[in-house]
Amino acid sequence: MTTPLLQITGLRAGYGRAEVLHGIDLTLNKGSIVTVIGPNGAGKTTLLNTLMGVLPSKGSIHYNGTCIQELTLEERVMLGIALVPERRELFSSMSVEDNLVLGGFRQMRLGNRQWREHIDDVYTLFPRLKDRRTQTSGTLSGGERQMLAVGRALMSRPQLLMLDEPSLGLAPLIVQEILRNVQALRETGVSILLVEQNARAALEVADHGYVLEMGEVSLQGPASALADDARVIETYLGTG
Ligand code: ATP
Repeated sequence: MTTPLLQITGLRAGYGRAEVLHGIDLTLNKGSIVTVIGPNGAGKTTLLNTLMGVLPSKGSIHYNGTCIQELTLEERVMLGIALVPERRELFSSMSVEDNLVLGGFRQMRLGNRQWREHIDDVYTLFPRLKDRRTQTSGTLSGGERQMLAVGRALMSRPQLLMLDEPSLGLAPLIVQEILRNVQALRETGVSILLVEQNARAALEVADHGYVLEMGEVSLQGPASALADDARVIETYLGTG
C-alpha cells in the first residue's frame, strides 16, 4: 500500500485551555480530493490552522510518512503544503500578476527560475485572471478574488492544497466554476483538502468526505456514499 500524503491520528488542538478538536483521525491519499464538511464552529478552520502549523497540537500528523508536528509554518510550506484561508486576503492595492509573483516566494527560495512559467500555468487554469492581470486585485469580483487566492497559493507549487470554504459568499454558478477548477487542479497532480459548509457542492467533487461535528468526526466515507447517507441528507443536504 502506498503511504498516504497526509495521515492524522488522534489530533487534539484548541485555543489556550479550550480544546476544539477532540481526537481527529483523517487520511488523505496522494492525488485525491478529501472534503471536511460540518456546521459553523465544528472546528474545520481550526483543523486547517493546526495542519499548517499555526496552532500547537497533540496526536500525530504525518506528511509523506514523516511526522511534521514539530515543524514551523515556513517549514511546512517548504515541504509543499499550502493554505488558502477563508478570508482570501490579497495585497489589494497590487495587480493580479504582482500578487502571483509574491506567491512564488518558495520557488525563488528554492532557486527555481521557472516561476514565470508557473504564472502561465495559473493563467491556464484561470483564464479570467490572465484577462485581468494588470487590474488592481482590490477591484476584483468575489469569484475572481477566490481564483487569485488559489492561484497565489499554487505559485508555491504545493503538493497539498488546503482550501477553507472557497464557496463562501459566492453565487452558485461561480461556486461550480471554482470547484471545477479544483478538479482540474487535481488532474495536474495536486492533492486537495477542501473544507466546506456547502456540503452538496463539496461532496460532488470530492473522493472522500468527513463530517466534523463539535470537534469530532461523526461520519466518514466515500463522498458518493456520504451524499446518499440519510443523516447527511437530512442535516446537510436538505430534501431538495
Ligand atoms: P465556520 O464554518 O463558522 O468557519 P469552523 O468549523 O471553521 O466554523 P472554527 O473556526 O474552527 O470552526 O471554530 C471552532 C471553535 O473554536 C469555535 O467554538 C470558535 O469559537 C473557536 N475559536 C476559533 N478561533 C478561535 C480563537 N482564535 N480563539 C478562541 N477560540 C476560537
